[in-house]
Amino acid sequence: MSRRGAGDVEYRQMYIGGKWVDAETGETFGTVDPFTGKVWARAPLGGAADVRKAVRAATDALSGPWGTMSASARGTLIRRLGQLIAEHTEELAEIETTDNGKVIRETRGQMAGLPATYEYFAGAADKIQGSTIPSPHTNFFTYTRREPIGVVAAILPWNSPLYLLASKLAPALAAGCAFVAKPAEQTPMSTLKFAELVAEAGFPDGVFNVVTGAGATGAALSADPGVAKVTFTGSTATGTAVMKAAAEHIADVTLELGGKSPNIVFADTDIEAAMNGVMAGIFAATGQTCIAGSRLLVAREIHDELVGKLAERIKTIKLGDPLDTATEVGPIAFDGQLDKVCSYVEIGLGEGATLVSGGRRPTEGDLRDGYFFEPTILTGVRNDMRVAREEIFGPVLSVIPFDSEEEAVRIANDTAYGLAAAVWTRDIQRAHRVAHQLNAGSIWINSYRVLAYNVPYGGFRQSGIGRENGLEGLDAYLQTKSVWVELT
Ligand code: ADP
Repeated sequence: MSRRGAGDVEYRQMYIGGKWVDAETGETFGTVDPFTGKVWARAPLGGAADVRKAVRAATDALSGPWGTMSASARGTLIRRLGQLIAEHTEELAEIETTDNGKVIRETRGQMAGLPATYEYFAGAADKIQGSTIPSPHTNFFTYTRREPIGVVAAILPWNSPLYLLASKLAPALAAGCAFVAKPAEQTPMSTLKFAELVAEAGFPDGVFNVVTGAGATGAALSADPGVAKVTFTGSTATGTAVMKAAAEHIADVTLELGGKSPNIVFADTDIEAAMNGVMAGIFAATGQTCIAGSRLLVAREIHDELVGKLAERIKTIKLGDPLDTATEVGPIAFDGQLDKVCSYVEIGLGEGATLVSGGRRPTEGDLRDGYFFEPTILTGVRNDMRVAREEIFGPVLSVIPFDSEEEAVRIANDTAYGLAAAVWTRDIQRAHRVAHQLNAGSIWINSYRVLAYNVPYGGFRQSGIGRENGLEGLDAYLQTKSVWVELT
């Protein structure tokens, strides 16, 4: 596969009100391929004027043909969009991997799953129903309508742009909302390519808009009073800023934020299966997932055996070009994130942790230009250390031993976050008992990292507000209107 951007730098315009446009200021920004360290593409640097234009286009779309279209016709368009994604899976995957460095096998897998998400919500569009309510006022017939919440602003991160967009856009379109997407500044290109497919599917102008830019663009979007709902995936710190901005104009929010998820391995588990689950939980996407199993809580009696197996397996991991299908771990998405990962390892060692594997930037051969960091294991971690409390968002596993089930649950829940957790055990009663006690939005038993378009997903505590996917994910884009009819 030839590398995109190896020759000319690609440029794509923003998509606002059904038109391809530059930023009003004419400014652009570059996006770096994390394998080569070079700018491979450019996009417009959207500012406040572009955000206003996009929100106005979306508002206009709600009072145009989109607003009066039947739910089943909306479903047909959404289904068509899913089909177009299926036809362009490879191109979308290549663009996204070039932008964020996630290995192509994973990106392809994510893209291949997107049509099912659009299909699910396409089918749900004409099943949005209100209810009739027996009124205490006998002279009244009372019913509810479920109506679209209005203009939705989606602010997206760089780790899984189109996958995360789908969980927001598919239900928002099914509900009848209009949408403004702001992809991350590190990864604008797949969303811009995706906008071509939206145009081809035949959605009316302004139903889907893309404004590219950085944090200031996202801030302008969440502060725009024309936005009725902000749906955000990213860090807890930025989520706090988004929620404050939305509060200024009473916009609804769905927030999918950070995590410090525990992978709890009991001594009675299938240790090979647990080893594989721990590996996938922390090193997939080079650790850059909000659900990363970044804390390994392991029964003391199997601590050395499990850590030994993990260290052996790490030696066999192939780092390399993320566009190469043989590569298992790609680079970190951008230089600032690499610096952050490096500094956390230093912090962990300074706090008294022991480095068992990795901990350095490999610079050999074709890894020399990329933002690589070796899969890293730190043992001797206590749960009060920063490497156990703060989200690193990189391939760094912090290992904490425990002596009892009670202690494991206490350590697992001793966190500001609550996104996900896993329990590894052969004891079915323990599995459910512990799952019920864990304060997290997704719990896996003898598995890790499985998600689906029809299963609600979201965080407890500082990991977020609201749920995506499933029918709860559709509710997030609807509001209820009660209609009172006086009969006589
Ligand atoms: P990271 O995931 O790298 O920690 P963030 O959570 O800050 O990054 O970024 C996620 C998204 O939020 C990106 O699209 C980014 O441009 C956007 N963003 C950054 N700062 C703000 C802000 N103050 N208001 C709204 N969006 C922001």
